[in-house]
Amino acid sequence: MEDNKNTASNLPLQGARGQHVVILTGAGISAESGLKTFRDSDGLWDGYDIEEVATPQGWKRNPALVQEFYNMRRKSVIEAKPNAAHFALARLEEKYKVTIITQNIDDLHERAGSTDVVHLHGVITLSQSSKNPNLTYPIKGWELGMDEVCELGSPLRPHVVWFGEAVPMIETAMNICDQADIFILVGSSLAVYPAAGLVGYVRNEVTKYIIDPKIPPVYNISGLVKIEEKATIGVPKLVDELLNDPK
Ligand code: NAD
Repeated sequence: MEDNKNTASNLPLQGARGQHVVILTGAGISAESGLKTFRDSDGLWDGYDIEEVATPQGWKRNPALVQEFYNMRRKSVIEAKPNAAHFALARLEEKYKVTIITQNIDDLHERAGSTDVVHLHGVITLSQSSKNPNLTYPIKGWELGMDEVCELGSPLRPHVVWFGEAVPMIETAMNICDQADIFILVGSSLAVYPAAGLVGYVRNEVTKYIIDPKIPPVYNISGLVKIEEKATIGVPKLVDELLNDPK
């Protein structure tokens, strides 16, 4: 493991026009938009026990609580605005082919203008059939009601991947990581699998930037550049460097 720490103003760059920049984002990138992360609060997500609100068992035990939890999250997401880090990543498309793989269930990357976003864990603005996960529907406003059903007559649940459920987009994400010419990780504790394993699919020779005020542990990965900064500081600086690189 390499252990070089950098500020965003002194970076070894390798950006050339048209290269494929792949970015993996986690809850940390949206923290400065007012959306809480949960790793720093003992497994609680905004005061709720994850086991009760983000697992299939929790849904079975108390669907009303789960619905209430995600209605509150959806309200916060709708009220939140993309921050400087989301906007900076959208600017990267001026020079590069850019794919964002996000663990977030908010839609702040899209609202900042990014055009290629893969949601590993779903997106909270959609509902999904509790019988057939492929049936998804836009939710009007922030509230999904307990009485709302899909075209098969089954209750609608939030379109999010709960702990213990399969991650349908993971194979797509692995292939994208394998294609990366530049890789950037922003605001993820790398504690949630299989998303955390994606860094391992990026080729050895590719530079991997990590932007996080508390750099997560990454082992046996070559080409790491650690930028110990908040997303709204570290991401715009790195993006400026990559856009200004004359190559
Ligand atoms: P996490 O909560 O486990 O870790 C957050 C990471 O962000 C930490 O490493 C922390 O140091 C870092 N961080 C905190 N403030 C930051 C800032 N200002 N700038 C940059 N980094 C900052 O997040 P995770 O690894 O994404 O895993 C959490 C899971 O919970 C994900 O699967 C996600 O689906 C879900 N989640 C989503 C949201 C959202 O959609 N906005 C919010 C909370 C949790």
